[in-house]
Amino acid sequence: MSDNEALLTLFALLYALECCVWLGRDCVVFGAAWGGDLRPAAPHAVLGNRRLGLVIGSPLPPLGELLPCPASPVSLTRMAAYAYVPLTTDPAGRPPQSERLVLLDRIESLATPGSGEVRVNGEVFVRTATPGAAAGVAEMLERLRSLPEAGRERVLDEATAAAFEPARVSGRVEAWRRAVAPLRIAACALFVHLFLATPWLVFHRGLERAAVPALAVLAVLEVLVAGLFYRAHAKLRSPAKWERVLLSLAMCVYPPLALRAHDRLAIGVLDGCAPLAAASVLCSAGTFREYARRALLDARHPRLPACPSEDAACRAASEEARRRTCAAMEALLRRLGLDPDELTRPAERATDPSVLAYCPRCQAGYTMRDATCADCGGMPLQAR
Ligand SMILES: [Zn+2]
Repeated sequence: MSDNEALLTLFALLYALECCVWLGRDCVVFGAAWGGDLRPAAPHAVLGNRRLGLVIGSPLPPLGELLPCPASPVSLTRMAAYAYVPLTTDPAGRPPQSERLVLLDRIESLATPGSGEVRVNGEVFVRTATPGAAAGVAEMLERLRSLPEAGRERVLDEATAAAFEPARVSGRVEAWRRAVAPLRIAACALFVHLFLATPWLVFHRGLERAAVPALAVLAVLEVLVAGLFYRAHAKLRSPAKWERVLLSLAMCVYPPLALRAHDRLAIGVLDGCAPLAAASVLCSAGTFREYARRALLDARHPRLPACPSEDAACRAASEEARRRTCAAMEALLRRLGLDPDELTRPAERATDPSVLAYCPRCQAGYTMRDATCADCGGMPLQAR
């Protein structure tokens, strides 16, 4: 391998690393690697650690989107906040959760240090997938604790309704797509320059003669991408000025980062939106139906144990929040013309006479009635 080929290979590897995004396991990621309909998925089950999993973005900047949607990390009631949520559509199971319970009237201080943490009374209460999600949790806790107990129920209902509002999702996604459109075009030009034009130039004219024009065009394109990123960031995340400045400067000197600039701006777009509402806007009808079926089955029959704590207050908070979420899911589905009961009916099992029972959560069929579903934590079966 010549020096030029080795350099190109090294650069391609650096770019491939930049295409790998590490996202919190409490995210549902809406992505399409080569364009087309977005599909919901969980971060990679094996590649990652307990908190983060790998997600691979589309290697070609003009194609594909990657929109992470952090699920709510806290079960809220008018009395307490419990840093545990029993719901997940991730086949690998629930993400790690702090399982801390705080009574709203005992909250004396709230802080979001900026790394996705929410601190209550000086201690870490919950870690969220994005800084924006942490700010949302802190804002809600602040609002709830400032209200008398009687007024909190209405706030919780309003917040749940807002999270399940498809118009909120479509408004944010449209704003993001408008803001990053010129950025993606510039990133595409940079991609062509780095992976097609420059190698062609070096191959035909030699490195010494190609270096100056190639580097000059590279510098222009990088500054262009950094400028467009700065402008789009200011539109989408105006308060985060230092993040904007530092990333823009980094893009001027590190081309792989500039090529993935639009992915950076996708993080936070769906903060505060329920994954089901996001799926209703971003996915095709068939994909949404399948995702909604899985999400609703999980919400109605969460994997056992539904709550890891024996504490009555923890169990009550988890169950109350689950019921509220489940009701919001069913309401959204009805608004969209889907019957929740019809959607979750195990229709295909009815045609197989050997199936005597099924798991209400994953709907796996069983040829015996007196068993439990190990995949769902020992869920008791239901007779056909
Ligand atoms: Zn099951």
